[in-house]
This record gives sequence, structure tokens and C-alpha cells, in this order.
Amino acid sequence: MSKKQISPLERVQNDMKKCVKCGACRAHCPAFSTFQREPATARGKVALAQHVLKGDIELDDGTYAAMSKCLLCGSCVDKCPNNVPTDEIVIAAREALAKRRGLTTFHKAVGQVIKTRKLMKMGAFAASILGPLFFKKVPATSGLRLRFPMPFLGGTRHIPQIAKDPFMTRHPEVIEGQPGKPRIAFFVGCMTNFVYTEIGEATLALFKHLGCTVIIPQDQQCCGLPGMSGGDLDTVRELAERNLEALERYNADYVMTACATCGGALHKLYPLVIGKRNPELSDRLKALAEKTVDAAVLLQKLGLDPEVTGGGEEVRITYHDPCHHRTAGIAKQPRGLLKQTPGIELIEMEGADRCCGLGGTFNVYHYGSSLDINAGKTAAIQATGADCVVTGCPGCIMQLSDGLKQAGENTRVLHTVELLARNIRR
Ligand code: SF4
Ligand code: SF4
Repeated sequence: MSKKQISPLERVQNDMKKCVKCGACRAHCPAFSTFQREPATARGKVALAQHVLKGDIELDDGTYAAMSKCLLCGSCVDKCPNNVPTDEIVIAAREALAKRRGLTTFHKAVGQVIKTRKLMKMGAFAASILGPLFFKKVPATSGLRLRFPMPFLGGTRHIPQIAKDPFMTRHPEVIEGQPGKPRIAFFVGCMTNFVYTEIGEATLALFKHLGCTVIIPQDQQCCGLPGMSGGDLDTVRELAERNLEALERYNADYVMTACATCGGALHKLYPLVIGKRNPELSDRLKALAEKTVDAAVLLQKLGLDPEVTGGGEEVRITYHDPCHHRTAGIAKQPRGLLKQTPGIELIEMEGADRCCGLGGTFNVYHYGSSLDINAGKTAAIQATGADCVVTGCPGCIMQLSDGLKQAGENTRVLHTVELLARNIRR
């Protein structure tokens, strides 16, 4: 007799039972802050998922709309007295919706692109060439804005330029360091590879400076989080397996990433979400998670001296904590390194660890609300009077830059490693 398949929501039903509907999560939910309706809260989503499981509610348009109103930021999980993993419950609900109704056209396209590196490379190349036809530079220093109104893209949205040469095409697969120093596999991530290549260059410069061997496995793929955001768990599983093969081959001491989102995928979501659904991959995913480390954390561990690598012009900065750093307890390490860097003055903003509003594809489906959440961040940055915002996630860089430019600010938004490597890259 064939074994009964566990449905995505059955898998999390015990987690749902832990919710006592106390509402402690409500005040910390960025989705509730903008939609102001109970179904947008963690409590509302857990209740909805329970009703779907009981059969009182269908996996219909209403359920889809409610479950799409989540940034998977994890704030509710941090604040929940009963440790209800609402982010996992929402992922399971989205998976159930995708299984019942099929993926949306957008998520089908996203799945194809993130699974096919060649397609991604071709798309990035075409965008780097054709970009000026559709976008204009605003201001001349950085960022692009649509020339024509395209409401589905968010008419006023500022987007970054795509790089002409992806980061990974510029470097050999293995960059030998000094004997006895750590061997580090660099998980680059799509945003760093195709858009913010300067983050990749700064990261590489820092680890080379420390004498490490840096391996950039050419077979590495997208981490898959854009697929997870749409419930496309099959695509995420395929990418996780391909990334395992690419990263295990070199048996490096560390798997390092300078992208908080990629780090969150490798460190937390692969074992938690993919490992639970695919027990045959579980041990390998756990081993990968144990080796995965954020660039700033590893730089501090390996004894980087920012007095040597980071000196430069005087700059007043403020720091934004990406959600995937907050949930992993990464906050002191980047700040510690930045504070030791000559010329840098760190002014803390209010709510530094509040979500910026990107939330993966939330920013595509609910751009107005995403901007609304981002507006609070922009105001907090403005209040510090800082010249520059620093963070550890290329996705947050894109979102913060959009918010600041729409508010008429020219505040720079940089990655921690860019400031830490100023001196050695000069
Ligand atoms: S998710 Fe946690 S904090 Fe929110 S209502 Fe349920 S038990 Fe309370
Ligand atoms: S993960 Fe974030 S957006 Fe989603 S319910 Fe929890 S706090 Fe709200």
C-alpha cells in the first residue's frame, strides 16, 4: 500500500496549535502596519491556515490574497511567546495554494529564470544593453528610473543598473591564498553577481587580504528564495540540491556569503523547509548550514583589522539590520567592524532592525504597501542626518535606495564590506 502523502498544511499543524491568539505579534508585523487588517497579522494567517486545514475555508482567491500579505520577515516569530513559526506556516500555505491552483504566471516565470542560469545571464546581458531605452539615470551618479509609465513595475520605482560583466565571469574559480589559511567557498548570490558586483569585489579583496583561499564555484545557482516566496518548493528543492553539489565539491572550511537573504536560505530555510520535505537531503543540508557564515561575521572571526583595510574619507553612517541577519543574531559583528574603521561615525537609527518592506516578491505584488513600510525606514534614516546607510543585504540596498530616492534624498546606500575594503581597493 502506498504511503499517504502529508499535505503542506498537515506538516505544520502542530505548530499552528501552539498559537494561543494572544496578539503579541500584531504590533511587530510590518504587513499589519500597512494593511491594518487582522488577516494580515501572524495570528490572522495562522487562524486562516487552521480553517483551511479543517476544510471550513477553501484555498481560493481570498486565501491567496491573505497569504500574499506577508514579508516572511520573521518579526512575529521573534516576538511570539509560544515560538509559533508563522513564516514556516505561511510558506506551507503558499505551497498548498500553488499545488491546488498552480503557480501564478509571474512565479512560473521566476521559477524558469532562477532554475536556468543561462537564461538569467542572457536576461541580465540584455537588460544591461537595453536598459537605457526604458530607463533614465536619476541622478547621473546611480540608479535608474522608468522613462514611460509602466504601472505593473511601479511607475515611480528606482531600480539599480545591471552590470555589463557579472562578478563571477571576472574571476577564476579558485584564487589561491597562503598555506595554512582558511579555504572559503564564496556563495555569491544573484544580486551581487548581476547587479551589485562591487559587493563581490570588496568581499574578495578582504578575504584575499587575510590570505584565505577563495573558491567561487562556477556551478552555484540562485539560492531559490524568490521561488519559496511563491510556494514553488519544487524549484527551491532543485536549486538546493544543485547548490549542495557545487559547494560540497571543494570541501571548504566555510561557505561564506555577503547576502543576508542567501545566508538565510542556506543557514536556516534549506534545512528547515527543504530538509523536512526531503529527508534524503536533510543531513547534507544541515552540514551546509553549519558551514555557512556571513561575510562580516567571518571577517571578525578571522581578525580583520579595519584600521588597515577600511580607512578613507570621513563619513557619518547609520546601519540597517536585514531581517535575515536579525533572525540569525547578526548585529554586533558588522557594527563592531564599522566602528573600528577610521573615518566612520555610526549613528543608530530608530528601529534599525525593522523590515525595509522588500519581502521578496511582496514588493512586486504589493508595491504600494512595500513603499509604505519603507517610508518609515526612510524617515528614520533622515532623522539621523547620516550621509550613508550601511547594511548587509543587496536586496535591502535596492529597497532602501528606492525609498530614499523617492523621498528626494541622495543618501548613499552601501554594503558593510564596501566600507571595510575602502583602503585596500583604492
Ligand atoms: S503567533 Fe504567537 S504572538 Fe501571535 S497570536 Fe499566536 S501565540 Fe500570540
Ligand atoms: S513574517 Fe513578518 S509580515 Fe509575515 S506575519 Fe510575521 S511579522 Fe507579519
